[in-house]
Amino acid sequence: MTHTFSNQVLNWYDIYGRKHLPWQQQVTPYRVWVSEIMLQQTQVATVIPYYERFMTSFADVQTLAAAPVDDVLHHWTGLGYYARARNLHKAAKQIVEDHNGKFPQTLEQVIALPGIGRSTAGAVLSLACAQRHAILDGNVKRVLARYYAIEGWPGQKKVENTLWSLAEQNLPSERCQHYTQAMMDLGAMVCTRSRPKCDACPLQSECLAYAQGRQADFPGKKPKKDKPVKNTNLVALLVAGQIYLIQRPLSGLWGGLYGFIESQQSVEQVAKEYGLTNFNQHTLTSFRHTFSHFHLDITPVLLIAQQQNIMNVAEELSARWFPLNEPIEVGLAAPTKKIIEQIQRML
Ligand code: SF4
Repeated sequence: MTHTFSNQVLNWYDIYGRKHLPWQQQVTPYRVWVSEIMLQQTQVATVIPYYERFMTSFADVQTLAAAPVDDVLHHWTGLGYYARARNLHKAAKQIVEDHNGKFPQTLEQVIALPGIGRSTAGAVLSLACAQRHAILDGNVKRVLARYYAIEGWPGQKKVENTLWSLAEQNLPSERCQHYTQAMMDLGAMVCTRSRPKCDACPLQSECLAYAQGRQADFPGKKPKKDKPVKNTNLVALLVAGQIYLIQRPLSGLWGGLYGFIESQQSVEQVAKEYGLTNFNQHTLTSFRHTFSHFHLDITPVLLIAQQQNIMNVAEELSARWFPLNEPIEVGLAAPTKKIIEQIQRML
């Protein structure tokens, strides 16, 4: 069955697989690695313009390693999961320092880099270096869990281990890089999360989920827990057409990105703390931003001040003033961007 599985997948790939994605041209481990990191939790169509901008600015690992982290985060603004960008940058430095700028060639060395797990390491070495390694990203998990009707949530170690051994078992002895791409494509294009196109699937004849009409049961869902709701006030200061943004610490939520003053205190107390005596207060539209572990209800407030002395605050903190009518070229979290757009529309 193993032989049939990979043959069927490869034959399907030869006709329908994707062969013209930007990272499939001028293939290098660096180009494939960046694409794999961007594609984690993000669809191909969303990734392509980000990928192309990123490659224009950081064409190779040396350029990325030498770039300021702010610049890297700026290129990531809107993609979310910013730890990916920080780790990419850290790993680039490590490749330059420890591996002489050459992407490491063993699975163990690649996994040792920040932000690269077993599946991503396998994908890069297989796609870019034609090595024989299994992968187990979300798409592959879905295909295998359905094909073999594997019960349980893949976040559980036991279920994950079962899927890994099936992924290993089905690896063909040749054309491993095509097989890797084929499995990702099959999961993304045919065995989709909802309404899989089983009639177009090369695996249909042996697929247990199809035979049982239970495609929606696999992979098993994560046990549900209600996400907690947190609240925060974000205070935007605007003086002489410039907006005040503070850089957040590198670790933690929105690490390294620029954002507004975050406070549980009243607006009056914040204004006092910043020495504002003469200002107009405008309430902006509140909204909810949802993270993987909690909801954050955000109440934004805009303070427009006349006085110039508040400018001094920027020198004391890792904060800067940005002209509101020019593109802001540092990393911004999605809610910060959203609030800036609200302010721009208001003024
Ligand atoms: S037959 Fe349907 S459920 Fe089974 S692997 Fe193919 S697309 Fe997925």
